[in-house]
Amino acid sequence: MKYCSSCGHPVEHRVPAGDNRHRHICPSCKTIHYQNPRIVAGTVPVWQNQILLCRRAIEPRYGYWTLPAGFMENAETTDEAAARETLEEALADVIIEQLYTVIHVPHIDQVHIFYRATMKSAEHGAGEESLETRLFSPAEIPWDEISFPTVRRTLEHFVDDMEQRSFPVRVSDIRHPLREETGKTSE
Ligand code: ZN
Repeated sequence: MKYCSSCGHPVEHRVPAGDNRHRHICPSCKTIHYQNPRIVAGTVPVWQNQILLCRRAIEPRYGYWTLPAGFMENAETTDEAAARETLEEALADVIIEQLYTVIHVPHIDQVHIFYRATMKSAEHGAGEESLETRLFSPAEIPWDEISFPTVRRTLEHFVDDMEQRSFPVRVSDIRHPLREETGKTSE
């Protein structure tokens, strides 16, 4: 941030009184612009023991397969965000079943949340951000072409849990050493 989003004055970057972190502060209107992690919400959409994946039509990771997911919007819940992203990216109408993975990605200031979801019908297709969509059996998942580490981890858990027929909620972190897998760096 260079300019105050309230008044347009150039902002300063310093620790406010009583705080212990650097913030963007407007010396004109005195607004402190707090920045906090963003939530990415998505689903593992299932139809008859197959998992629906989308092939990305946007960077980063153009052409790679992903679970439908995206940034949460204001005024929605995480499960609403997950279902909306699934409809937008994969044209699939889902029933949200249960929270499945919560993965913190602190070096990019994000939290990724995936829900298990059941497709209401076999219908799916490529939304604006997808090249194509396809149902994969666990054995068919294109592991070499998966978009992001949070998607990979969620799919790995899910394939294991399908065999066990038990889907516990899994909370974990993906930290800095794996940065090359996040899609933020070049190929
Ligand atoms: Zn200002």
